[in-house]
Amino acid sequence: MTSKLSNFLTRRSFFASSGAAAMTFGSAAHARVAPGTNSDFAYEVQRTEDEWLSMLTDEEFVIMREGFTEKPKTGTMWEETREGTYSCKGCDLHLYNSQHKVVLDKGWVFFYHSQPDAVMTNIDGKPAEYGGQMSDGSELLIEVHCRRCGSHQGHLVFIKGNITHCINSQALTFNPTSA
Ligand SMILES: [Zn+2]
Repeated sequence: MTSKLSNFLTRRSFFASSGAAAMTFGSAAHARVAPGTNSDFAYEVQRTEDEWLSMLTDEEFVIMREGFTEKPKTGTMWEETREGTYSCKGCDLHLYNSQHKVVLDKGWVFFYHSQPDAVMTNIDGKPAEYGGQMSDGSELLIEVHCRRCGSHQGHLVFIKGNITHCINSQALTFNPTSA
């Protein structure tokens, strides 16, 4: 699969140990993992690697299950402006709404909010001991994944002072309100 990986920009570094998220965006009350107890965590939707490979394309697999980022302006969802909902391609959980979407020329799918109890976060890379920067001096990235099946969706980024969800189109299914 190595040749396919050259198409992707960044890697979610430690998916294997994920479930480490201690908070759920939009609904802290639903946090299911207390800090330091990650080993007890299990996503509601569990599939074997073979099952994931059979239901996803190769590109979707390396994005959603290995944490890579698609090339910008992949497909048309980044500029989609119709009303509708956006669901996780891995488990159909409703993650985002068009009313919170913003079209940016950067070419990924951007939202100002997720749905309540929809996504969880993790730290991409190896943070310095006291946080703030990764040990190699680069910026620390907050990764976003589906709280039901654990599939990587994208990252949280700051854009004009707003925390914005920067999501891979290939991790989502768009469901227009009026087809
Ligand atoms: Zn999911």
